[in-house]
Amino acid sequence: MLADTELPTRWYNIVADMPTRPLPPLDPATKKPVTKEKMSAIFAEELIDQEMSTERWIEIPDQVQDLYKIWRSTPLVRAYNLEKALDTPAKIYFKNEGVSPAGSHKPNTAIPQAYYNYKQGIKHLTTETGAGQWGSAIALASQYFGLDLKVFMVKVSYNQKPYRKLMMNAWGADVIASPSTLTEAGRNVLARDPECSGSLGLAISEAVEMAIKDPEHTRYCLGSVLNHVLLHQTVIGEEALRQMEMTGDYPDIVIGCFGGGSNFAGIGFSFLRGNFTEGRKTRVVAVEPQSCPKLTRGEFQYDFGDVAGFTPLIPMYTLGHNFQPADIHAGGLRYHGAGSIVSQLLKDKLIEAQSVPQLETMAAGVLFSKTEGIIPAPESTHAVAVAIREALKAKEEGTPKTILFNLSGHGLVDLYAYEQYFAGKLNNYEVTDEEIRRTVAQLEKLI
Ligand SMILES: *Cc1c(COP(=O)(O)O)cnc(C)c1O
Repeated sequence: MLADTELPTRWYNIVADMPTRPLPPLDPATKKPVTKEKMSAIFAEELIDQEMSTERWIEIPDQVQDLYKIWRSTPLVRAYNLEKALDTPAKIYFKNEGVSPAGSHKPNTAIPQAYYNYKQGIKHLTTETGAGQWGSAIALASQYFGLDLKVFMVKVSYNQKPYRKLMMNAWGADVIASPSTLTEAGRNVLARDPECSGSLGLAISEAVEMAIKDPEHTRYCLGSVLNHVLLHQTVIGEEALRQMEMTGDYPDIVIGCFGGGSNFAGIGFSFLRGNFTEGRKTRVVAVEPQSCPKLTRGEFQYDFGDVAGFTPLIPMYTLGHNFQPADIHAGGLRYHGAGSIVSQLLKDKLIEAQSVPQLETMAAGVLFSKTEGIIPAPESTHAVAVAIREALKAKEEGTPKTILFNLSGHGLVDLYAYEQYFAGKLNNYEVTDEEIRRTVAQLEKLI
């Protein structure tokens, strides 16, 4: 752990040090870079400035630093028992982001997003959530700044997964099953299909529509993918750098699971800075599910960030925004694309990507639970699985590697995944090339 006085006071903006900077997001109507004016109807001004910034360091406001202290620093832990179980010469460290009040890394960006909206005089926030990890983080953050929050939660999750909805309610948020009658997008769908169980794309449409309709007092916020979200998550890596220094070790390999890229960026970018500016050679590895392989099998293209086609066109590795991933338990990793910074880094071969089948991830989660005592979120088990792969490789090669991975969250609200796994009801899903070609072919070639 770090003392409060040693906590980071700045976020790290990797764009300043990238050999090739990411291409700009485009306005779908004009195919020209999006303007700040257009984005400011949806997002708070300072968040848009951060989205476009090329400054290396951005100060963390005092009020945000104070709230971070509720759970930060998060522990850096040496996984001695896991090492012993694997009989590996590798040293395995993990950063435990599961200790936040919402149980994941997401409050790291929820707190500053709520703060900048509050500072601008915004009164209401809207967002969408699938299984509820993001919704619960932004609910926690909103109430600290007296913001009223509406969360559009995909109806099927709303009915099947009541616990994060109740967390949001406990933190004062209004949770609405999507499709709803509050928006035109929702009403249109319900008129055609009253039984519609919703989708993330539709929930985004509802949340964005509600924000755009009240330009004076309402804004929308998003929990992953965008540059400013990745920026806020760098508190993880900045802490980890200092904590690794306290151990006397430096990681050869840094690993994060990958949905839209925020916790991966959080643990990885600070160590990439070491590669870019100090001649370090750390491998930084993103881990995705085999059923949603945008990094390992997707194409580098301009695509929409959402299924509905509301966002600007973003240059990204993508499976196409119409790609329908299998219904795996790591719901947070079922996103069709990767943010523009991470995509550029991968294109330039400055980071690596691996995909893992579902049964390997759950087996890794169970081994981790038994050895380190913490039950990981189904998303986080992907990082655990690759840490195990690398530790076993180190054993085979007889090289004492130092491995660091990010434990993005605990799994105590996702035990259903473990229940299904123990009952033998989970499968591995591999996507066919045909499926990927079909959804990628629908994209307009802009690069
Ligand atoms: C949301 C979530 C993820 C995936 O999102 P990223 O933006 O890729 O980090 C991973 N782990 C947990 C615990 C999550 O809640």
